[in-house]
Amino acid sequence: MNKRIVIVGAGVAGVNAATKLVDNGYPGELITVIDMGKDPYQRKPEEVMTGFLGAGGWSDGKLTYHTAIGGQLSKYCGEEKAMELMDQVITNFKRFHPKPEEVQCSNPVEEPEFIKPYFGLRLFPVWHVGTDYLSEIAKNWYDYLVSKGVKFLWEHKVSSIDFNKNNVIIPDPQYDGLSNLYLSYDELIFGVGKSGIDFAQELANKYELPDEPKSVQIGVRFEAPQEHFQKLIDISYDFKLYRKFDNEGVSLRSFCTNNNAAYVAVEETYGDHSYNGHAKKDEAYRNNMTNFGILMEINGIEDPFTWSREVVNKLQMNVSQYEGGLLVGNTMRTGLYYSPNYTRQPSSTSEGTNVSSYQISIDTLTHVVEPAMEGYFKYIMDFIMDMKKVFPTLGDDWGMYIPEVKYLSPEVKVDYSNLSLVDYPNVHFVGDALSARGITVSGAQAIYVAESFLK
Ligand SMILES: Cc1cc2nc3c(=O)[nH]c(=O)nc-3n(C[C@H](O)[C@H](O)[C@H](O)COP(=O)(O)OP(=O)(O)OC[C@H]3O[C@@H](n4cnc5c(N)ncnc54)[C@H](O)[C@@H]3O)c2cc1C
Repeated sequence: MNKRIVIVGAGVAGVNAATKLVDNGYPGELITVIDMGKDPYQRKPEEVMTGFLGAGGWSDGKLTYHTAIGGQLSKYCGEEKAMELMDQVITNFKRFHPKPEEVQCSNPVEEPEFIKPYFGLRLFPVWHVGTDYLSEIAKNWYDYLVSKGVKFLWEHKVSSIDFNKNNVIIPDPQYDGLSNLYLSYDELIFGVGKSGIDFAQELANKYELPDEPKSVQIGVRFEAPQEHFQKLIDISYDFKLYRKFDNEGVSLRSFCTNNNAAYVAVEETYGDHSYNGHAKKDEAYRNNMTNFGILMEINGIEDPFTWSREVVNKLQMNVSQYEGGLLVGNTMRTGLYYSPNYTRQPSSTSEGTNVSSYQISIDTLTHVVEPAMEGYFKYIMDFIMDMKKVFPTLGDDWGMYIPEVKYLSPEVKVDYSNLSLVDYPNVHFVGDALSARGITVSGAQAIYVAESFLK
């Protein structure tokens, strides 16, 4: 237990790895966590992707507990171990929760008749923490790690890593990045999440890291009054309706459902806007809305990453920024909002500002969105039309934010026993930077790596 461990990314993965280590007596002084965001006391709600607990810190805090949800885990360590690791992540979230008894579990056991024959429903337990409590959890968790001696470097963006010399290179913010800090490591945990996807790609290119093929994951964020979906929400809080078109290489699912105090969130990646959502627990925020992604998984596209980026880029429009009726700032590009009901407008964020989007007509939907999605948009529209049959009160009382996208970073090939790179055995990729797509799997992968250090 005397190796210097550097963790790049204080997201869900990095934080769970550090916790596993110090919980088991690893000296905190030997662990340094670097993040380009802020500690949980300084981090602002609009900093959705960066800082302590990363994207998980202002997420909806739905802790899913099934190996078919949230990315790859069981393929590395087997089903039983995967469930045990996810359990450890959920326990950590409860442990630092100011009111752990409020973490509710939804656990549907059977598909309800009324969704058949249009949809299937994935059955799995999910604990719901809520965005507002996440911030409290983050503070308690951070204090614990600091008390154990773990060092954190905040607002430091790692610009490069030398896998041969075991150095992490960080432009020093004290000197406006004109000189570099070098931090050496014996073991490196690389957990930069989606906000670090470019960086992960750069390293993959630089070191020619072999990777595994990926699918495209793209769609929309759907939003409607919750009452239309209540019958299903009572059975499953985070319902996952799904359907498959095997011959066409396409499957669809509803994804990340938020209820009660549900807000749509804008994600900015590569300068483009896409959408996601989260829900608060505090009754003061109740808006009785539901939002969820309708995501298509499309197989067989040659370069899924480039294809998705190009599609997202075509789904942006210029808008002028107004404040109090006055034009302020330059025009900016943002995503789209469509509702068949013209009185329905883009909603507000939990901070009371408008969800950035450009409202489009059916014409634009037909002439811009459909061609941009190269024929795949019809699957989304069919999904919505069938939801109207299953939820008869829905009618035209809905809107959608376009696009929602999951840029799956290329999944680098790793040693399954400790998630280390095939050619660099002391560099371990974890979380969304590897093959995760959610909180429990990201945290579980990182705990798995930490356990390999403790052996
Ligand atoms: C709005 C929203 C809602 C979500 N809701 C849910 C949900 O309810 N349930 C669920 O399971 N998942 C949810 N997710 C996804 C979940 O948050 C992620 O899967 C999870 O956080 C990934 O963990 P990670 O540690 O891999 O990356 P992250 O948590 O994203 O952390 C990565 C960290 O790395 C840092 N970083 C990146 N690049 C650098 C660099 N070059 N130098 C230094 N630091 C860097 C970032 O600042 C960040 O803090 C949501 C995501 C969003 C955006």
